[in-house]
Amino acid sequence: MRVLILGGTTEARELARLIAGEHRVISSLAGRTGTPRLPDGEVRVGGFGGVDGLAAFLAGERIDVLVDATHPFAATMSEHAVAAGGAAAVPLLILRRPGWTASPGDDWHRVASVAEAAATLNRERVFLTTGRQTLRAFAGLDDCWFLARSVEPPEPPMPRRLEVLLARGPFTVEDERRLLAEHRIDVLVTKDSGGSDAKLVAAREMAVPVLMIDRPGRPAAPTVPTAAAAAAWLRRPPRP
Ligand code: NAP
Repeated sequence: MRVLILGGTTEARELARLIAGEHRVISSLAGRTGTPRLPDGEVRVGGFGGVDGLAAFLAGERIDVLVDATHPFAATMSEHAVAAGGAAAVPLLILRRPGWTASPGDDWHRVASVAEAAATLNRERVFLTTGRQTLRAFAGLDDCWFLARSVEPPEPPMPRRLEVLLARGPFTVEDERRLLAEHRIDVLVTKDSGGSDAKLVAAREMAVPVLMIDRPGRPAAPTVPTAAAAAAWLRRPPRP
């Protein structure tokens, strides 16, 4: 089969690796990072030009199955995948890692959006792990101090009292503990991305509260939690 994987995640790369020998795979990256970790197989980079562009790509490349393996917060791309898959009559599979669940000792406060997280803050020293594109939501909070970790440097607008840490995970619990202590962090702000939970373990151990931003709604389509489950599904996709 010809499989198009909408990627930009660890799971997408893992799926490309798992199925490269079985199917013709094209992985698609948005092109947000200058030095992306490239998956096995064919790779294309950049937006498709909306739903119509993606539908045209599916038809032009004669794609048999579309896999949305984007980050759980890439809501626009996921909506486009549903619409374009429908328009081009290409079955869609969503590969989405599960969100996190709190354990005893966690002090989590769930919020619906980055804006709500920003509205909750007041005079704290904040560790922001929500991605460089969210920093604008925290600009203007001059009473807070921020440590923001991102892969690429952020661009204005961003908070005035800000230290940027350029780094790409995975991180160990010890790394995270050290950061929380060195910067005397009062609160951690994170998206409910799922995956490695080292920062959450460190926050629990150090009694640091967490503002946990809920995931956007998920489109209705068959969904699997792991690359291995996606590879198994692709061996028996639904008949058109
Ligand atoms: P988004 O807001 O949902 O998508 C905005 C636009 O970017 C889409 O309409 C599409 O442009 C293009 N796009 C997004 N993902 C693409 C892909 N895999 N291939 C080709 N075009 C893509 O997306 P986002 O939240 O900015 O995320 C962009 C990428 O970064 C995704 O691949 C995602 O997996 C990855 N990522 C996101 C986050 C996050 O927190 N949002 C975190 C880690 C990684 P067109 O309309 O022109 O097709």
